Parts: sequence; C-alpha cells; structure tokens
Amino acid sequence: MPAITILRRPMNTQVSSDNPGWKGRGAPALGKLLSRDVLTTAKLAARGKWSTSWHMALEVAANTGNFHVWPMFRSSRECPCCGYVGKSFVATANWRAVSYQSRCPQCDSRSRHRGLVMLLGNVLADLPDGELLFFAPELILLRWLSDHSTLKIVTTDYNSADVDYSGEDIQQLSFPSESFAAILCNHVLEHVPDDRQALMETARVLKPGGVAVFTIPGDYDKQTTRHFDTPDGNGHFRHYGLEVVDLMRSAFPKVETIDMGAQCDPKFGVRRGDMAFVCRK
Ligand SMILES: [Zn+2]
Repeated sequence: MPAITILRRPMNTQVSSDNPGWKGRGAPALGKLLSRDVLTTAKLAARGKWSTSWHMALEVAANTGNFHVWPMFRSSRECPCCGYVGKSFVATANWRAVSYQSRCPQCDSRSRHRGLVMLLGNVLADLPDGELLFFAPELILLRWLSDHSTLKIVTTDYNSADVDYSGEDIQQLSFPSESFAAILCNHVLEHVPDDRQALMETARVLKPGGVAVFTIPGDYDKQTTRHFDTPDGNGHFRHYGLEVVDLMRSAFPKVETIDMGAQCDPKFGVRRGDMAFVCRK
C-alpha cells in the first residue's frame, strides 16, 4: 500500500502553550499594500503570470478598501475561533482564485476553521465516553477543542513528530477497532493515495455511536471527483465532487453533508459551499 506523501503543516505554528496570545499575521498595513504588494503584482504580470497577478491585484484592492478606505461602511465581522471583532477579514489570493473575507487578522483562521467551530459544538454532543482523534491537527482548532470539548483530544500526523501518535498512516492505522468516540480529519483525504481505505480505517477505529467529521477541498456544485495521475502542486491526489458522499456511505452507516456557510451568520465569514461531512457509526 502506498504511503501518504504529503500532509499539511499546522497553519500557525507561532501559537504555543508558552505563548498563549494569538499570533495571527494582522491586518495588512496600507504602506505594505501600496508598495510591496503592488510591486509584487506588477512583477507577476511582467513574468506573464496573468492569473496570479490579476487575483493579487483584486486582493490588494479589497484589503485597501476594507481596512483603510471604507471600513466605516462595513458591518462587523466576528471570528468564533479567537473572538476577533472587526470590520473585515483579510482577502487572500492565489493563481486559482481570490478569497474575499478569508483570513482572520488575529488568529489566521480561514472560512473552514470558523465553520467547523460553529458546527462542532452540536456535533460533539451526546457521544460515547472516550477520546477524540484529531488527524493533522491545526493549532487554531486544537486550541478551540481544548477549551470547549469534554472529550480528551489526542493528535496524530503521518509526518510530524509533535503529536501524540506520530507516523500513523490513515490507510492502515495501528489502533484497535472501536477506539475513539470522535474523529476530526480536516483536509487530509485529498493527500491520501487510497481514500476509500482511509475511510474504512477511520470507521473501524470509531466506537459505535461515535462521529467522524471530514472536510476536504472540492467543487460541490459538481458531482464528479477529478483524479490526478500524480499529485498536484498542493500534494492533492484529487479534487472532490459530491460523489465522495457515496464513498463515505460505503464506510459509514450515516453520512450528513453540511454546507457550513449556509448555516452561519455572514458576520462569521464562512463561505457558502465549504462542506463538512459528518459520518456516524
Ligand atoms: Zn480569529
């Protein structure tokens, strides 16, 4: 069985128990936006990287407006991960798209983190006693879970040693069956060569009555999953469509598909179409 090649790093490694304050990258300063970011946009255009350049130009315009030109006309935004209250989240861009109202200036959370925090309070209620196994843990969510979940949180990562169980391959876990009351697996399946086997393994180690929550990147207005012969630049083996629900149903008796953005107040900046898959056994 092939090994996992890439798992995502925790997104904000500056937060630690030694430094409990949030260390997000902050709101973009006007000077940086109008000098370095504009220059970077022009350089990208000069190198023919039109898509990235255009998206970055839109990002600079959005952040200049939202934080420095018209913030007084904006309604408040709130981050449920860290408690930030302000006039905007930060727009971010790459070659593929611009994400408006994306990064929290205080904790660096993105839409899916804020959506999960709004969702998990209900999803993690009424579970069997036991532990929550968190794959490839992100510190923003780990910190929120530590404060809000009654379950003991244990962490695992294929690549990182800074977890409770290092080197676990989600396609072939070493844990006995029915070990965990809950599982959280956030943006991992797309990095795994055999996602069907990964789902079977997570179902195996989940206790009866337990819940496993997955988020994975995809276009969920489409049915079909696009598979790549070799992983793309982000280490993804596939870009999911809604047919992934059928795959999950082959491993779990109950699968609920939740559009986190549709369920949240817009002030939390959770994008419509950011899906969570809630699987129960
Ligand atoms: Zn935040």
